[in-house]
Amino acid sequence: MTAAAIGEIRVNGRTYRKPATPTIVICFDGCDPRYISQGVSAGLLPNISRIMSDGFYAIADAAMPTLTNPNNMSIIAGAPPKVHGISGNYYLDRTTKREVMITDASLVLSGTVLAALADAGVRVAAIAAKDKLRKMLGSGLKGICFSPERARDATQNENGIENVEQLVGRPTPDMYSPDLSLFVLDAGIKLLQAGRSDVLYLSLSDMVQHSAAPGEELADTFNKNVDERIGKMLELGAIVGIVADHGMTDKCSPDGEPQVVYLEEALNKQFGAGSVRVICPITDPFVKHHGALGSFVRVYATGSVSVQALMDAAARIPGIALVLDGEGAAARYEMPIEREGDFIAIGDTYTAIGSRPEEHDLSGLNGHKLRSHGGLSEQPVPFMLSRPLNAAYRAVATSRRLRNYDIFDFALNGVD
Ligand SMILES: [Zn+2]
Repeated sequence: MTAAAIGEIRVNGRTYRKPATPTIVICFDGCDPRYISQGVSAGLLPNISRIMSDGFYAIADAAMPTLTNPNNMSIIAGAPPKVHGISGNYYLDRTTKREVMITDASLVLSGTVLAALADAGVRVAAIAAKDKLRKMLGSGLKGICFSPERARDATQNENGIENVEQLVGRPTPDMYSPDLSLFVLDAGIKLLQAGRSDVLYLSLSDMVQHSAAPGEELADTFNKNVDERIGKMLELGAIVGIVADHGMTDKCSPDGEPQVVYLEEALNKQFGAGSVRVICPITDPFVKHHGALGSFVRVYATGSVSVQALMDAAARIPGIALVLDGEGAAARYEMPIEREGDFIAIGDTYTAIGSRPEEHDLSGLNGHKLRSHGGLSEQPVPFMLSRPLNAAYRAVATSRRLRNYDIFDFALNGVD
């Protein structure tokens, strides 16, 4: 690795300029581009509309699988999952044969832009809606790093900040309220106003998007509230970059019923009990709103049936769009091979894949449609910057499809 010039840092093979102007990157969790197009045409998003006309707007691709933690890590590492090592929330450890939930930064393999900026003397704040993600975002970071989930418990020692409730002016929000995300943005605005941070990474929650499609009142109100806060950041003179970790699609039949392939059940029925184990990497302690159902799973052959026979059978199931062996999947989607299954299965646009019905509780949907992500249909995400690109980055943006994890490069290097 070459040494970075003064005023620059190098992380995972890319060079970033230290900011001259406070710079905010928002991960608008689950913000499918359809929320933006619907919200803009309905006149709900005046500030985002202004960014689209005066700054830069494009559609970028999220990393696979299109899940929250792998993409948040990609965004702050500026690199795909094979570099930082996080390709799901949940995986099967091949050596111990145990299923493991990733709950902290211990499996993060690379450095991050946030940590490197902080090491170079930039005042960095990372705020994530959920505390588990906060721990990952804080990997190696010397700065402010907290979550609204644990706002009340933030300490100088652990989080680089205390009295967060007083800072934001309201109590720690409920885990399943839209305020979890708004609290992230309001805390960022307060830090910006107080001149306490030069670079902020603000990562929201996708609870609203799992529950409400574009045009539904819950989504419209939420997106309007987010837009207002973006307006405030622009007023304060910050450079604002916005991306999403993934899109969001109805995983439903035309009549609105959840459309799910229970792959472990189906394959074990065909080949005999114990033939396969299906791991859903979307699994998380907070799954009330989607029942741990997404459109991407990893499959492990646990009996005597060959991987090829299992793959052929899985590919024949209606609703399964793509089956790839672990090695091929890791290569194609730049995922870490050590976390791959014997094969992966991706659902079609409207189909989620689960393991067995008893592992997925859909009672938490509370009457709303099953909406989720994880597959290829949720790769397109909005990518925007509040200021126009300089000539060099205009050339980059027209020469290739952007990735959501290009956002720090564009926010720090792409605007003058
Ligand atoms: Zn998400």
